[in-house]
Amino acid sequence: MQVSDWTTERRKTRQISVGKVAVGGDAPITVQSMTITKTADVEGTLQQIYALAAAGCDIVRCTCNESEAAEGLAQIVPRSPIPVIADIHHQYKMALAAMQAGVHGLRLNPGNIRRPEHIKAVASEARDRGVPIRIGVNAGSLDPELYDKHGGPTPEAMVESALREIAYFEEVDFDLVKISVKASSVPLMVEAYRQLSAVTDFPLHLGVTEAGPPPAGLVKGTAGIATLLMEGIGDTIRYSLTADPVEEAKAGRQLLEALGLRERKNVDLIACPSCGRAEVDVIDIAQRAMKAFGDRQLPLQVAVMGCVVNGPGEAREADLGIAAGNKRGHLFVKGRNIAVVPESEMVEALVEWAEFINEHGTEAAIARADTALAEREAAKDRSMLLNAQGADANHSDAKIVEIRKTVSG
Ligand code: SF4
Repeated sequence: MQVSDWTTERRKTRQISVGKVAVGGDAPITVQSMTITKTADVEGTLQQIYALAAAGCDIVRCTCNESEAAEGLAQIVPRSPIPVIADIHHQYKMALAAMQAGVHGLRLNPGNIRRPEHIKAVASEARDRGVPIRIGVNAGSLDPELYDKHGGPTPEAMVESALREIAYFEEVDFDLVKISVKASSVPLMVEAYRQLSAVTDFPLHLGVTEAGPPPAGLVKGTAGIATLLMEGIGDTIRYSLTADPVEEAKAGRQLLEALGLRERKNVDLIACPSCGRAEVDVIDIAQRAMKAFGDRQLPLQVAVMGCVVNGPGEAREADLGIAAGNKRGHLFVKGRNIAVVPESEMVEALVEWAEFINEHGTEAAIARADTALAEREAAKDRSMLLNAQGADANHSDAKIVEIRKTVSG
């Protein structure tokens, strides 16, 4: 008997796409997390995103609480290896600015963006751009009117809040929606999701909000999320821990694997999405690397990065990676440069080093390498690329000009 035979059949939901990641329908259940950096800190946020991706996170959310954050997103989105969702509270203009920055999705809290004209303005723009929105109802920030009507944050009040938002969206013909009805109380969120899943077929994002630090936060998150998943409810999940968000991503991944809902891969290959800085065809190299790794039993995270300017730093959590620059491949282990190979040998070198690391560990790989030489060569190619491409290879500055007009208009 398969593990999945013990769970209720998964409830059928519609499918939407968050960037390249499908959510709902028969798509694998995905793991989400949220950065805790200031979104305006582009490099710090990207490093956290890469660490999250390496830990098994499929979709990441970043706060977009001020115009500097929206401008940061204009630079983060082209370099993020996983789809980026902007978290919006109170200010609908931040949702518009985030879409100008190119985000793959939005999260709106119906409890704090309440004016119908604002909700509809955001939904219309999202419809035109094909950007999905999560209706993120939270028991702690419920619309005061619904709070009074239902005598508190009851499951019924939370479901009504979500349905009201959907009604506004329907007025402007927008249906790229997923929904969450989170609470810090496990019984409350479980019941709210059960009621919601009975009345809608939009994909559901599960979570116990403000669950607190581990281990109690992990227990609460698992209690709520696993209960619903075993009932066939839920299409994407997030643990909310008072901890490094990497712990959230790991917990999400481990829970799905424990329930038999996601398979562990051999090599976990992560790759940058490529952007204006890319020096090679990242998709081609990533595909060739996947093929070369095949079924080899190498439980390592391996990163394929488009440029040596940012690649080793962005993917410094990966066990092994390669970044392109000046027709050469720069290999790195845990963010440290270890070797330089001709571009034509990048894939073979990756496989060879992955096998060495699998047998001897990352520290032995670093000890074996001439790191000083590799770092010197990487620095040379990095500065050559910066001279050739300038500092704004992704043309983020033009988007930032548009964002400033929206926010100040
Ligand atoms: S090409 Fe470089 S800057 Fe662009 S996403 Fe890849 S590693 Fe990051």
